[in-house]
This record gives sequence, C-alpha cells and structure tokens, in this order.
Amino acid sequence: MKTISRREALKLSGIGILGAAAMPLSANVGNTGIAAGKKVVVVGAHPDDPETGCGGTMILYAAAGYEVVSAYLTRGEAGIRGKSYDEAAAIRTQEAMNACKIMNARPAFIGQIDGNCEITPQRYTEMYDFLKKESPDIVITHWPIDRHRDHRICSVLVYDAWIKLSRSFELYYFEVESGEQTQNFAPTDFVDISAVAEKKHAACFAHVSQNIEKVYAEYHTHMEKFRGMQANCKFAEGFVKHHQSLMSI
Ligand SMILES: [Zn+2]
Repeated sequence: MKTISRREALKLSGIGILGAAAMPLSANVGNTGIAAGKKVVVVGAHPDDPETGCGGTMILYAAAGYEVVSAYLTRGEAGIRGKSYDEAAAIRTQEAMNACKIMNARPAFIGQIDGNCEITPQRYTEMYDFLKKESPDIVITHWPIDRHRDHRICSVLVYDAWIKLSRSFELYYFEVESGEQTQNFAPTDFVDISAVAEKKHAACFAHVSQNIEKVYAEYHTHMEKFRGMQANCKFAEGFVKHHQSLMSI
C-alpha cells in the first residue's frame, strides 16, 4: 500500500484558495502536526458518492493521521437493476466497505433508503444524533444544488445538523458528476490529489455493481483534471467552504 510522506502532505498546504483569515481545507490536510485526535466525516447519499466526490482528500487526511469516516445516508438499495432492495443493499454495502479499506476510512450507514430519502423531523434528529456522536472537526457533504433528490436531501440534513450543533465543525461541500448532478458549483478550496489519484480510483472502482469505470471516465476524470488546472497541479478535488465555518481547527 502506498501512503504519502509527510513531505508530500505538507506540499499540499500551498493550494488553499479562500479568504485570508480562513484556514483552507488543503492546509488542514497538510498540517500533520494537528492531526492527532482529529476527525473528518464525509456524508454522501449513496455508496460511491464520498469516494468519487472526495476520495483523494479522504486518503490524504487518513495518511496525515486523521480519523476518516465515510458515511452513507443509504445503502444504494435502488441501484442494481434486477436485484431486490435487500440484495442490492448487501452488495453495495460490501463494495463500500471494500472502498473504505482502500481509503483507510471507517464506513458508517445512516439508515435511509436509496431513491426514497426523506426530510422529516425524525430524519433531522437522526442526522443530528449521528454527527453529535461522531463529533467531527470537519464535515464534507453534497452541494445542495444537485439533480439527484437524495443528494439534495443529504446536504440539507447535514446543514441543519451543523446549525443545531452550533457550527462546531468546519463544513465543506463536494461535487459529483458536475453538470449532470452537481450544478452551479464554484470551488473555494482545492486539494492536490495527484499523489493519491491511483488509490482514489481503486476505491471508486470498488463499486463494481455501478459500472463506475465508465461513469468515472465521463465525469470525474475530466473534473479532477480541470480542478487540477485551476489549482496548478495535475489532479485536484474542488470544495466549497461554508463562510461561517470555524476560522481554523
Ligand atoms: Zn449518489
């Protein structure tokens, strides 16, 4: 298994693009000295959303000593044609676990149903309870303007929990299949994932049931190259940081 060196991680600290007073996401990634006991939670709607949206950043955080949690709102129950919800959930749960193993992340499943995600008082409480228990330093989730209803719902639930938890963690948004799914997304922060791009791809491609190599080539390959062009590196992931996030961690 290839991990990045501290030197490689520290190199990342130069690419953050945000207001002068704020700590850019990439600076957090690079600052290995503050990693002990720190936690990043990525909340995606379906197995493969955290991996494709910010798998490279997750790998870098894990290599820098952070605890990384890959949380899935659903188990992808509706995502395999010809399979029952239970069968698909079992297959996609295993794929998510395989991907997490590659990323050195811990999987967590929140319990909604793919294609039928809900925003109700109970679901707000469920997300609040989940994030309160995890007590993260940084949370990264879907951007709210997205063609997929489950992605939008995921984003709104996390945002609500963030407010109710007194903005106790930094809140960032990732993009997936930009143009097709995520829309109107203009990153404030970039993370250079060039050193771990291969490993990120291996984590994404663990989702064998999703024909993901084809989808990846159509969208995410272009996205990570374009974000790399913007950040002046080979491959990057782009993020929007909520302006009211903590100034630093
Ligand atoms: Zn999704």
